[in-house]
Amino acid sequence: MEKIPMLVLAPLPDFLMAPLHAAHVCHDYFHAEDKNALLSEVGTEIRGIVMAGGSVSPVPLLERLPKLEIISVFGVGYDGVPVDWCQGHGIRVTNTPDVLTEDVADTASALVLMTSRRLIAANRFLHAEAWTRGPFPLAHALRGKRAGIVGLGRIGKAIAQRLEAHGMSVAYHGRARQAVAWEYFESLIELAEMADFLIVACPGGAATKHLINAAVLTALGAKGTLINIARGSVVDETALIAALQSGIIRGAGLDVFENEPQVPEALMQCENAVLLPHLGSGTHETRHEMARLVVENLAAHFSGKPLLTPVC
Ligand code: NAP
Repeated sequence: MEKIPMLVLAPLPDFLMAPLHAAHVCHDYFHAEDKNALLSEVGTEIRGIVMAGGSVSPVPLLERLPKLEIISVFGVGYDGVPVDWCQGHGIRVTNTPDVLTEDVADTASALVLMTSRRLIAANRFLHAEAWTRGPFPLAHALRGKRAGIVGLGRIGKAIAQRLEAHGMSVAYHGRARQAVAWEYFESLIELAEMADFLIVACPGGAATKHLINAAVLTALGAKGTLINIARGSVVDETALIAALQSGIIRGAGLDVFENEPQVPEALMQCENAVLLPHLGSGTHETRHEMARLVVENLAAHFSGKPLLTPVC
């Protein structure tokens, strides 16, 4: 069978690239020194794109791929894809939902524990041989604390279950009330006023850009910690740094940033922030499952079968 020309927009793991190379001719756009030359050379032949959840496929790029049929995202978040434009041009989009839900919820839960119990600082304390000079300062318990989840989807619900197991109560904000027992807050500000931990688990993109702004952080207040495992774009990072520096909020646990992999120096200097390098779904088990979905979605599309996980 003739191999299908594909454009690869992000660095992807070998266990995904190996099956992609087997079935397709993969052109590495991410590492191409002259991207314009690459598009001039192969753009008119490309029939598929593979990209990561955090990468982007802007319309001007897609306009140079007249034979493009499908974009397969290695991730659940597809905020880097202009989905409306794709729908209008008959281009299908797939992602990798569900298989990563538990790992990302584990990461959020870990960030809640790391910030409340100051586990990173405690680890540094011990490595600095400070224990012999006295005990580590007391931290805060989770039981009885209130979690406010922004975006109660697959991951949000899995986070809620974990936090309930820690003895916390759960409420949520989203665009609509859901048929769940957890309390719904139509107002994000009121959720933040209530919450000890405000946990962001909604999609990124224009609709949620800077949803967590200075007003929300002020409402969260000095009792509160912000956890973000969603997308960096959802949080106004400048306002967050100011809130962490001035004690407007107690702390933050972040897996995602506005301009990854760049993290502002001022944020790295914040002792009350726990920062992770976007590793929410970063386990062998989950990334292999995600890779399988990418490959199977492409195979389904190019053999005329229904997609396993269609976005559109
Ligand atoms: P999902 O099932 O689609 O859940 C998203 C939730 O957000 C839905 O409940 C949705 O509810 C809500 N939502 C949408 N727009 C909103 C808004 N403007 N304000 C508040 N809530 C809103 O998606 P998921 O699988 O849980 O994934 C959620 C996100 O996590 C992804 O989009 C991705 O960006 C991020 N993620 C991060 C990592 C990581 O490594 N850190 C890994 C995977 C995913 P309504 O539609 O009813 O409003």
